[in-house]
Amino acid sequence: MSEHDALYDATLRFAREIDARVDGERFDRDAWRDCARHGLLGLAMPREHGGSGEGARAIAAAYEAFGLGCRDSGLAFGLLGQLLSVQIPIANFGSEAVKAQYLPGLISGDLIAAHASTEADAGSDINRVRTVARAVPGGYRVSGAKIYSSMAPVADFAVVLARLEGDRPALIELLVPRELYATSRPISKIGLRSSPFGEIVLDEAFVPEDQVLGHAGSGLMGFMSTMEWERALIMAPAVGVMERQVRACVKYAQDRAQFGVPIGNFQAVAHRIADMKLRLETSRLLLRRAAEV
Ligand SMILES: Cc1cc2nc3c(=O)[nH]c(=O)nc-3n(C[C@H](O)[C@H](O)[C@H](O)COP(=O)(O)OP(=O)(O)OC[C@H]3O[C@@H](n4cnc5c(N)ncnc54)[C@H](O)[C@@H]3O)c2cc1C
Repeated sequence: MSEHDALYDATLRFAREIDARVDGERFDRDAWRDCARHGLLGLAMPREHGGSGEGARAIAAAYEAFGLGCRDSGLAFGLLGQLLSVQIPIANFGSEAVKAQYLPGLISGDLIAAHASTEADAGSDINRVRTVARAVPGGYRVSGAKIYSSMAPVADFAVVLARLEGDRPALIELLVPRELYATSRPISKIGLRSSPFGEIVLDEAFVPEDQVLGHAGSGLMGFMSTMEWERALIMAPAVGVMERQVRACVKYAQDRAQFGVPIGNFQAVAHRIADMKLRLETSRLLLRRAAEV
């Protein structure tokens, strides 16, 4: 038994309970809170703020199990997105005061937060961010427009990536409370519908100095660190989804008979299932390897 098997099993049982309650069409705050209570937002978080202290491998195991047991992929994506793109940056780069201010509420599910980097002209090319932070006495005045921010329509605050005004071509990450920005209605998407995403518009929002994540100029480093965590782990629920699909296909191929035999006996069907199983195991190995690095 690996060290994370118990976590996997407990999360799978819990995910099946949640699955019976959610429809995957809209954000469900109660389900979110229950997931937090179960510990899904405490993984890799410092114990002194309510986390379990475990690392990336625990996140991979728990969220793979969640993806297998719960069909609401948007819920898994929303939770994991917040953990990787808000909580881990705060835990890694926040001051002690910032950690104490936000982590307990995020871990317990009482607070929800968005990560706001992407803009209309700044996707992969993140250095094109145009949202600007102008230094003023005591903090920064921030103006600009973000798009595709997951959870923005329901979040209590956002981690906003901005460009420092002036000659320095440097970025800064700031923690901005909901009262200081406008949000759009949720943008419609074809999947992950229960993790609503939307725009964040800032107009001369005053953000005090102590709400800077890291320091002025560390924004790009902070963003790249977030991307490392996301690239490694955001696929975890999808591996669980793949396993659920393989199991469903195997069962159907065993139950469905034609010409007096289960269709799984036909080589063309068996080959397809073998290919699915191969892709599942390859993805799982990649996830576990990524979580170890
Ligand atoms: C479900 C979902 C949730 C999201 N949540 C958030 C969020 O919470 N916060 C946030 O800030 N953003 C979020 N995003 C936005 C996401 O981060 C961006 O979509 C991403 O950065 C890519 O930017 P883009 O969509 O502008 O694509 P583009 O940068 O325009 O890329 C389009 C295509 O060009 C390719 N491409 C781009 N540059 C290169 C290159 N140099 N070499 C080769 N190929 C290249 C890309 O791979 C891609 O296939 C979310 C997006 C989705 C779909």
